[in-house]
Amino acid sequence: MNHTTTTEKSNKNQAAEYGRAALDTLTKARGYAGQGTSESIKRIDLVDLVQNHGVALKKSGARYIGRCPFHDEKTPSFFVYPNNTFYCFGCGASGDAATFIMKIYGCSFPEALERLGIRKTGKPFSPAQARQINKVKAKRALVESFRAWEADYSTKLGKLIVAAYQCLFRIKTEDDRDKIAWVHSPLSVWEYHLGVLCYGSNEEKYQLFKAVSHG
Ligand SMILES: [Zn+2]
Repeated sequence: MNHTTTTEKSNKNQAAEYGRAALDTLTKARGYAGQGTSESIKRIDLVDLVQNHGVALKKSGARYIGRCPFHDEKTPSFFVYPNNTFYCFGCGASGDAATFIMKIYGCSFPEALERLGIRKTGKPFSPAQARQINKVKAKRALVESFRAWEADYSTKLGKLIVAAYQCLFRIKTEDDRDKIAWVHSPLSVWEYHLGVLCYGSNEEKYQLFKAVSHG
């Protein structure tokens, strides 16, 4: 193997490593996506939001108080709490930043999220996109099982070959030789397979994977 191919190979391995790390991050991110929206809503400063919608608020202890935008009142009974929720003791209106926007504009939850600058979590995929995604998923699963098999089979072959040679080295007599003659045939196959795993191309390894693990 010359210098160029070694460098190319290590670049390729590095790229694959970055790719796998990115996929791991994505998988984790997808797990958080569900709670991401409510977390984003909770982070919105409700005092700011309410005041920007024409409701003057005054600090009252840990809370803020003002005149409710959802019913007519002279005495303030609309409270905004430090956890970014509101409650009106006059009309019972309550909720968070998203609820506030929905009530003010009479809009839906997704529209409220848009107005709050929170991105909607995922439009459904088109059938063509879904097929493509499933193809990539299937390929990923196959590559993962191939890698696992490659590691397992290399270890197994290494052990078998060492054990076989230990037998062969113990041959002292003609009789011994006859007794373990059977080992020569599988040994040459094991050595060939290990050779493919150590020095073969990905395509050669994959053909071996198909032949060995799927009959
Ligand atoms: Zn009210």
